[in-house]
Amino acid sequence: MLECIVTKFGGSSLASDEQFRKVRSILELEPTRQYLVPSAPGKRYPSDEKVTDLLYACYEQASAGKPFADQFIKIRERYLSIAQLLHLKVDIEAALSEVEQGIAGGRSRDWCASRGEYLCGMLVADYLGWRFVDAADGIRFRDDGTLDDERTQELLSGLLKDRKPSVVPGFYGAKENGEVVTFSRGGSDITGALVARAVNADVYENWTDVSGFLMADPRIIESPAEISSITYKELRELSHMGASVLHEDAMFPVHRAGIPTNIRNTNKPYHPGTLISKNAPNEVSVPTITGIAGHKGYSVIYVEKNMMNSEVGFGRKVLSVLEEYGISFEHMPTGIDSMCVVVNSELLNPHREEVISRLEKLVEGSGSVTVNDNMSIIATVGRGMVHNCGTAARLFGAMSRARINVRMIDQGSSELSIIVGVNDCDFEATIHAIYHEFVE
Ligand code: ASP
Repeated sequence: MLECIVTKFGGSSLASDEQFRKVRSILELEPTRQYLVPSAPGKRYPSDEKVTDLLYACYEQASAGKPFADQFIKIRERYLSIAQLLHLKVDIEAALSEVEQGIAGGRSRDWCASRGEYLCGMLVADYLGWRFVDAADGIRFRDDGTLDDERTQELLSGLLKDRKPSVVPGFYGAKENGEVVTFSRGGSDITGALVARAVNADVYENWTDVSGFLMADPRIIESPAEISSITYKELRELSHMGASVLHEDAMFPVHRAGIPTNIRNTNKPYHPGTLISKNAPNEVSVPTITGIAGHKGYSVIYVEKNMMNSEVGFGRKVLSVLEEYGISFEHMPTGIDSMCVVVNSELLNPHREEVISRLEKLVEGSGSVTVNDNMSIIATVGRGMVHNCGTAARLFGAMSRARINVRMIDQGSSELSIIVGVNDCDFEATIHAIYHEFVE
């Protein structure tokens, strides 16, 4: 029996009075759902605007000394219609006027953006009859704008220790002096994870508009299989490669605290969604692969130098050139007298000439530096790989049957993923070949 569940509802789950009603029935299904973290109202239909985007637009206008009434009226209308249609008592008119005055009065960009969640939290709390806990009192940022994790844990667990059902708005917190700071976009996921950790929840439910993760990008594979269970480590590998449903930083607090995250669909409340946990316990059979994700647009910097193998510190020198230009590397397969550094082309391009000439200096007279662009990286991720021999053979067999040239291979030391580099033009075909080898 689960004793305490923290729920986070995304913007589309709170976009209208109808969505609010769905949220309430989800909470009624399971009384141990005691904490709720809302996003700001999102899109009701594809061409609709998100409240957060409107708030940023108001701020931009106001800070340029221009009127923002056209944008603000849309925000006002969203909140007022939800409040009216649900017959809420909270004085949302007054709260909206305060926000409008704050924007006009030159409040900060973060403060303006945070009001989307703040106002939404007020509505949700009133609708459910739950307590409203301002995230500014529980989520603490340092003066440099980074999250103060320890202080946040202390403050939030103190505020919520009486176990009263509470609404904590997502996306923002405050510095010690009260100045509001937001996370990056999509950051309500992080708030949810921090609340889950603070109350030591049994599970952190993240309610959105999809039924969890898919094994591959549906724009490439038609109706890919759903992932019912995944570990935090696997998810990290997949989200790094672009598969995203959850904010990347939302995994750490719950992962470390051993709390599973369950991605659920507000529009399909009985669908079990995807369960993300530390080690996917109680599994009867583990699928060999859990998911495939990838990205186009990488460059491979190929550095060759005679006797590189015996020169201690050469790799460090290469990497420090990249470090100087703020370029992080993705992979680094090495040979005896050569090394490849795979980097995102977008990061390399602004400094390409300088980086190459600096590297050429390092190998002067005894080597060469070449850059190959238009490479894709595809990660095939699966905790089941450890238990199955022959996974790599199947993967490369499938690629060879599809006549795809493998340009780079990297198997993570964790045996959790096999990474291949292919030409950008082979990207989709590679995902098809791997998916169909393992899934159908
Ligand atoms: N409302 C914010 C955004 O649109 C934060 C969130 O929804 O998580 O990014």
